[in-house]
Amino acid sequence: APRIGVLSLQGAVAEHERALRSAGAEVTKVRRPAELEGLHGLVVPGGESTTMARLASPVNLMPAIRERHQEGMALFGTCAGMILMANEITDAEALEGFDRITGLDVVVRRNGYGSQLDSFEDNLEVTGLETPLPAVFIRAPIVEDVRAGVDVLAEAQGRPVAVRQEGMLAASFHPELTPDHRLHRYFVDSVVGS
Ligand code: GLN
Repeated sequence: APRIGVLSLQGAVAEHERALRSAGAEVTKVRRPAELEGLHGLVVPGGESTTMARLASPVNLMPAIRERHQEGMALFGTCAGMILMANEITDAEALEGFDRITGLDVVVRRNGYGSQLDSFEDNLEVTGLETPLPAVFIRAPIVEDVRAGVDVLAEAQGRPVAVRQEGMLAASFHPELTPDHRLHRYFVDSVVGS
């Protein structure tokens, strides 16, 4: 079975572990660089990107993830995880001075949907899925721009909410909080093939 780690500093860790196991993966928690060894993929969960960046800093976990990704470890980031993977953040002040993973060639704005729409649900048409995927958005980042090489897999309210780039998958919503785990299966299957 493919070995998938879940970054376990903070956030929706247990839900991702369950979703990945139901998608056929062998799952381990990652809190230190050594725990990245031998992983085919890593999930970077939702939660609070500033907290995760701060907790990762003493052990240099973000640069270690970046290096392992460059050596072939696939990444799947959800919500805060997408923020940590993004190459550009429009409101980066809160994350300044902290390493992030980077590499995903998108521009995001944290908490971009604003107070009125802090949390909402939608049913998404996703490229490659036959029927709509239920999606929960919680203080989600807005994807303001995607660069060449990034495929948009799903949109909500006219904006990208699921994207794919070589070796990377990211969603601004929380696919681990709904019982429909097709996006986790998609990730696990893409890792096996890589
Ligand atoms: N707003 C959070 C952040 O900036 C992300 C919210 C989430 O992951 N549900 O990190």
